[in-house]
Amino acid sequence: MGCAPSIHVSQSGVIYCRDSDESNSPHQTTTISQGTAATLHGLFIKTDAAETIPSVITYQSRHSRNNSYRDRKENSGGHIRIEAETQTSHTSVKVSATEECVGPMRLTQEPIQVLLVFAKEDSQSDAFWWACDRAGFRCNIARTPESAVECFLDKHHEIIVIDGRHSRYFDYGNHSFLSLYRPPDQEEPSVLPLLCAGFSRRFVENSSVSACYNELIQIEHGEVRCQFKLRACNSIFTALEHCQEAVEITSEDHIIQYVNPAFERMMGYHKGELIGKELTELPKSDKNRADLLDTINTCIKKGKEWQGIYFARKKSGDSIQQHVKITPVIGQGGKIRHFVAIKKPHIDNNNQVKCHSLRHRDRRKDSVDARSLSSRGSDGTTIQKPVSEFAPFMSQLAIPVTLNDVPPSIAEMLNDEECWEFNILDLEAATHKRPLTYLGLKIFTSFGVCEFLNCSEATLRSWLQLIEASYHSSNSYHNSTHAADVLHATAYFLRKERVKSSLDQLDEVAALIAATVHDVDHPGRTNSFLCNAGSELAILYNDTAVLESHHAALAFQLTVRDSKSNIFKNIDRNQFRTLRQAIIDMVLATEMTRHFEHVSKFVNSINKPMASVNSDCEGQANIRNSPENRLLIKRMLIKCADVANPCRPLELCIEWAGRISEEYFAQTDEEKRQGLPVVMPVFDRNTCSVPKSQISFIDYFITDMFDAWDAFASLPGLMEHLSENYKYWKNLDEMKCKSLRPPPPS
Ligand code: AMP
Ligand code: ZN
Repeated sequence: MGCAPSIHVSQSGVIYCRDSDESNSPHQTTTISQGTAATLHGLFIKTDAAETIPSVITYQSRHSRNNSYRDRKENSGGHIRIEAETQTSHTSVKVSATEECVGPMRLTQEPIQVLLVFAKEDSQSDAFWWACDRAGFRCNIARTPESAVECFLDKHHEIIVIDGRHSRYFDYGNHSFLSLYRPPDQEEPSVLPLLCAGFSRRFVENSSVSACYNELIQIEHGEVRCQFKLRACNSIFTALEHCQEAVEITSEDHIIQYVNPAFERMMGYHKGELIGKELTELPKSDKNRADLLDTINTCIKKGKEWQGIYFARKKSGDSIQQHVKITPVIGQGGKIRHFVAIKKPHIDNNNQVKCHSLRHRDRRKDSVDARSLSSRGSDGTTIQKPVSEFAPFMSQLAIPVTLNDVPPSIAEMLNDEECWEFNILDLEAATHKRPLTYLGLKIFTSFGVCEFLNCSEATLRSWLQLIEASYHSSNSYHNSTHAADVLHATAYFLRKERVKSSLDQLDEVAALIAATVHDVDHPGRTNSFLCNAGSELAILYNDTAVLESHHAALAFQLTVRDSKSNIFKNIDRNQFRTLRQAIIDMVLATEMTRHFEHVSKFVNSINKPMASVNSDCEGQANIRNSPENRLLIKRMLIKCADVANPCRPLELCIEWAGRISEEYFAQTDEEKRQGLPVVMPVFDRNTCSVPKSQISFIDYFITDMFDAWDAFASLPGLMEHLSENYKYWKNLDEMKCKSLRPPPPS
């Protein structure tokens, strides 16, 4: 079994699923990767172009042997074929790899490859051919769009020369280095349309080998080398994106140009909120010495590195003490171009992270013992949980000891918790992005979880804090607000009469715990991404239900690690085993590759048999209460709770759609940056229609599942919202609107 993406719906309704074990599912197909399509588009758009070119020949390499080219032309079946010997025997010119340096990085550049796309051989194509020979470039010739594409996909040429004298044959899209040439004595047209189409040069017909040679080596020394060096930067960004220290890059005038995910986690900001802002625009902590900033600025402006301890202010308003190193990056002529700041939480001799809450001044309470937080993180790189991920949470909340200590405004909000229309986003704001602990305390108390587990409310609170802190607040969707939302939906479903009478209290407790932990330490990337990137987690879980396995495993690791937050410490071994099994099964059921299997089992084993016994109450109860069917009910319950956002009131539904889209866009951005396969091409921020993506998501996954769940649990309110929300997206789509909301009236 391979790895499947969580959900990938294309705008045409195609589901992207890689290697699922559900291979017989009618909903799964594979599609051509976007990269391939874009390349096809980039070179030759018109698929009928080949038919207009009389001589269709496969792409060929001309090769030299002993310093001379020997072209053998033969007529085979009406097609001209040009053949030559192997390129490896090409000894006349330099074809060996050259070395390039990008900063301290040393790169090896293979010989340049040139693709000549000429419908007919003539003196011009010959001149380019010989120019390549002189420059030591490898050269292929293609006669048709198809063979050019085939050749390009095989060799990925750095330079492509297209014969523009026959431009009616070709339509060109984007490509990095295309050199087009046109006949002389035409009126000099603007090159702008060509530049826009992705060409970098235009070459006027000239069959002198020297002219062609000059052209090619200018391109090589200019764009090709530049592009080669830029490609190397991708690997440096990959390192930055994965490193555990927070990194911030600013321009010489202190405008933020880059922050890495570790920075987002540490400071609680999303990068979109920071990039482009001046450092002075961000709130500062008042805990630093008054002259500290001046001291730092004076030092770095002289081009010197500054290192020291600094209090930074997080988005939540709390201060965090950091060890900071700021290095000026000097460009040509000694001018400072950027400043790179590397930040780590300051840890004192007792391994305590120094955080300062606006509300809690008691440092002992705000500190986290870094030694007690080791686990395998979703970046999979370490057993020691990065302290910075826990620090923001521990510092910022004045968490109540009991429900009675909840601030009145939050307590008032929580009064509406039993209502489906409960606004989780209001709670998110009121709790400074920590709704899970407060809502958890309320819901767990109302279901008697502490009594069932025989644990104190303090242990429950400590556990909720720990779990919530292990969600990434920098994810736009998979953060602790999503977990709180799923917990809310789970509690709502558990209170439905049909569900209540099917499950026992252990099932209820398992469902509430499963909902709370079901996405813990989610990295904001899908399973497919982790598999394609070869992440440690994907390797650990053999590309199979990677994230869901991680969420379940980490939840138990975190829970049992410290008695202070171990909610299971007082239950007996058998009960723990049953509870553990039920929690793991539910968390794993949230994996979407088995979506259709879970729904159809539920319908076939529960809904249909229940309908067939009609109003025979005992018969119905027997169906619902069998252990196998209770398992199916619990799976269906958590699955529906997990993706209930399209059934929420419109404003919430829109917000969730925006958040999931943003998270997917960020993944696509990263895939492009890292040259990884783009697993959800639909979620490209430049082209995506959010309404279409929501319509597809509802059509494929939501409608049937909620019809079945509504038939069982009776949820008219949800179905009403779903239908209203669906109409909303359809309406936007009909207006050709691609965003979350209609444009304001002009
Ligand atoms: P989970 O990762 O456990 O939250 O799994 C739920 C799946 O449903 C994930 O793949 C989500 O990305 C996806 N999902 C939830 N809501 C939406 C939505 N409104 N649009 C598209 N995908 C969604
Ligand atoms: Zn989820």
